[in-house]
Amino acid sequence: MKFVYDFTEGNKDLKDLLGGKGANLAEMTNLGLPVPPGFTITTEACKVYLDSGEEPVALRDEVSAHLEALEATMGKKLGQAGDPLLVSVRSGAKFSMPGMMDTVLNIGLSDKSVQGLAKQAGDDRFAWDSYRRLIQMFGKTVLGVDGDLFEEALEAAKEAKKVTVDTELEAADLKKLVAKFKKIVKAEAGRDFPQDPREQMDLAIKAVFDSWNGDRAKLYRRQERIPHDLGTAVNVCSMVFGNLGPDSGTGVAFTRDPASGHQGVYGDYLQNAQGEDVVAGIRNTVPLAELETIDKKSYDQLMQIMETLENHYKDLCDIEFTIERGQLWMLQTRVGKRTAGAAFRIATQLVDQGLIDEAEALQRVTGAQLAQLMFPRFDEQAKVEQVGRGIAASPGAAVGKAVFDSYTAVKWSRSGEKVILVRRETNPDDLDGMIAAEGILTSRGGKTSHAAVVARGMGKTCVCGAEELEVDTKRRRMTVPGGHIVEEGDLISIDGSSGKVYLGEVPVVPSPVVEYFEGRMHAGADDADELVEAVHRIMAFADRKRRLRVRANADNAEDALRARRFGAQGIGLCRTEHMFLGDRRELVERLILADTEAEREESLKELLPLQKKDFVELFEAMDGLPVTIRLLDPPLHEFLPDITELSVRVALAESRQEPHENELRLLQAVHRLHEANPMLGLRGVRLGLVIPGLFTMQVRAIAEAAAERKSAKGDPRAEIMIPLVGTVQELEIVREEADQVIADVQAATGTELKLSIGTMIELPRAALTAGQIAEAAEFFSFGTNDLTQTVWGFSRDDVEASFFTAYLEKGIFGVSPFETIDRDGVGSLVELAARAGRATRPDLKLGVCGEHGGDPESVHFFHAVGLDYVSCSPFRIPVARLEAGRAAS
Ligand code: ADP
Ligand code: MG
Ligand code: MG
Repeated sequence: MKFVYDFTEGNKDLKDLLGGKGANLAEMTNLGLPVPPGFTITTEACKVYLDSGEEPVALRDEVSAHLEALEATMGKKLGQAGDPLLVSVRSGAKFSMPGMMDTVLNIGLSDKSVQGLAKQAGDDRFAWDSYRRLIQMFGKTVLGVDGDLFEEALEAAKEAKKVTVDTELEAADLKKLVAKFKKIVKAEAGRDFPQDPREQMDLAIKAVFDSWNGDRAKLYRRQERIPHDLGTAVNVCSMVFGNLGPDSGTGVAFTRDPASGHQGVYGDYLQNAQGEDVVAGIRNTVPLAELETIDKKSYDQLMQIMETLENHYKDLCDIEFTIERGQLWMLQTRVGKRTAGAAFRIATQLVDQGLIDEAEALQRVTGAQLAQLMFPRFDEQAKVEQVGRGIAASPGAAVGKAVFDSYTAVKWSRSGEKVILVRRETNPDDLDGMIAAEGILTSRGGKTSHAAVVARGMGKTCVCGAEELEVDTKRRRMTVPGGHIVEEGDLISIDGSSGKVYLGEVPVVPSPVVEYFEGRMHAGADDADELVEAVHRIMAFADRKRRLRVRANADNAEDALRARRFGAQGIGLCRTEHMFLGDRRELVERLILADTEAEREESLKELLPLQKKDFVELFEAMDGLPVTIRLLDPPLHEFLPDITELSVRVALAESRQEPHENELRLLQAVHRLHEANPMLGLRGVRLGLVIPGLFTMQVRAIAEAAAERKSAKGDPRAEIMIPLVGTVQELEIVREEADQVIADVQAATGTELKLSIGTMIELPRAALTAGQIAEAAEFFSFGTNDLTQTVWGFSRDDVEASFFTAYLEKGIFGVSPFETIDRDGVGSLVELAARAGRATRPDLKLGVCGEHGGDPESVHFFHAVGLDYVSCSPFRIPVARLEAGRAAS
């Protein structure tokens, strides 16, 4: 295996092997851009080192060979006394991990070669400045010396000289500082700063390898879900110097604005400095545009190179560069990070420039970004007082009174207050409080902490790990930086998309993207928002590309109309249980408690017109589009009063000797219907089979509603869905009765009805016998929420708050299987059932309802296994449309 690649040997597609930095340095080298020569040690070498604790045997020789070649190219030897070659040793993993790992500059300087460097450059100050930087960086990152000690010594030197910036220190001062730094190293690391240049280089390489497993790097990877076994590459790059006087400098730039996507000159430049000074904010940088007046030639060349890079990468790039005495050098480039809004704008701009096509544009944006753009946001014009920043764990903008325990959260929210639950970290006992709160703020924990996982699952705004906030749960308050104290009841605002925490109530405005989907803002208008324009175009690309249709889960006409505005092509799941609540509860109670057939028929008769009216409205809202109606699904006791409350009522009435036959009857019914595992009890099709007349009443309501819409010249397209079927026999019995009812209604109304009947596939047995079930079903809709519960054997309500955090932390789940479909388990059942179903009935319609229908990754899976549509909540529809388009392109 080859462990070292010269910059001329790699290219941008070798990120796995050379890391992002190394791959792109190679790409720029091969584009003929001015990159200081160098070589890259592969991630494979790092992996061997991390696994075995030893560098691979071949590595040393390979490094030697490449170093010799580099020395030949440069015409000087590493650390040679008279005219030293200096190099940087730079980390660079496949995914950029800004600031997480180590880089050491100026390797090769020693007590001897510093003299040579001074002579060659004709600049003593520069040479000693470079040397003190080396000892400082090497001491800190390679020898593990506390960096503050060097900073303090540097400060002391400036104070002694009564100057404020490091460039005012002269050669003699820096020489003294070097001596001081060497003493610090000796005292802290117990060894001298190494004078042998090769030893410096080898130790630095090892330190970069080790930095992969530094605490910071590990934490970052966990948060960003970057695998821990990738390892980092190491780049050895000949030094160029930005600290050689005023005609030298260093800077960073973007080829376009990463916040808006606009083309222009974006970046910062710092004269007479080395690279790390820009990020460290040692001195004030100037806007890149000023480079034009400082050094026109380099500026023009830089603009030229930025254009070359954009055309080559066909995307926004960010770059690091250094100017050494008027000569421009490129030190890094990569496709740059951008905000969600800029991602949409840049994708359309690049299409307009002819750099990418529509299909590629769809790969440049994600559903997650679109979802981010749809959350309400804090008004950017408002005056705000930011007091902290944590991890953006679950998006949204939430305002409320700070409360520090769940009990208060629940109590206050019951009395109509909006609250933000503030905790150091949450645990399963906080669940009630989290549900009651507008948002959740914690001072500990990352993206996989309990708070983050549960909040995301609930779609609730959450900022976690805001470490500057000192949360004092006992005294019910928190201290923010600067000492201000937030007491229980004080208003705070948290932004789950940025992680920012504010004092007071920041006004919230709806997102322009939602205004657009709602039809309150139009693309193409003169004053149209640029972002809306871009979203509009990308959605059109997606709609043209996608094969999957997108439907909505909606139970009433209002939701249905919104879903339609958002682009729904039908309703994939209308839950009828919602139609049994409210005033109708009493009717349902009577139905459940009926002792005689007559009583039961009486209550069904009363329910029928109410159900019918619901459906008429729904068909009207969705005229011309399919509407899948699921017959009653939840266990009956859900429609009865709470058992404890009722027992108390009965006991009270008894003690007061008041009449209470009704309560008693109710209580008996509740006891009778009580189930230890309602999720696995009397529900779904089982109900339909044991309560005579229930399902037929619902089918009749659907059929009569459809007939009524037809006679009003409407185009109703109802699909009747039977839930929780486990065997074809269940479906056959229900079907036979339903067909009879439909035939009756047709005869009675004289209208021809085309109602299809299908089933949900949400039990493993249904999936396994899908071939048989398809004999009696015209469509399948995969109920992946229940299917996930039944395949894994855990109930969502019980487990998300209890052990999911531990599972995520241990890496058993990458992500909750309720959030993203578990391809290997639940997914293979879906695939198998789809195939078996279609084998029986080639025109079987296949869809999915349940939260996975709006989850980006899951949508790609459903596309891949050939489903016809996904169905999701109205607000997720644009996300599903976009991801379906991305999946197909
Ligand atoms: P990071 O990944 O943290 O940005 P880098 O490896 O890019 O670390 O290096 C840190 C700084 O040092 C950057 O500003 C970079 O431009 C600068 N730098 C790295 N190598 C050299 C070099 N050979 N010559 C001059 N500056 C360099
Ligand atoms: Mg860098
Ligand atoms: Mg279900």
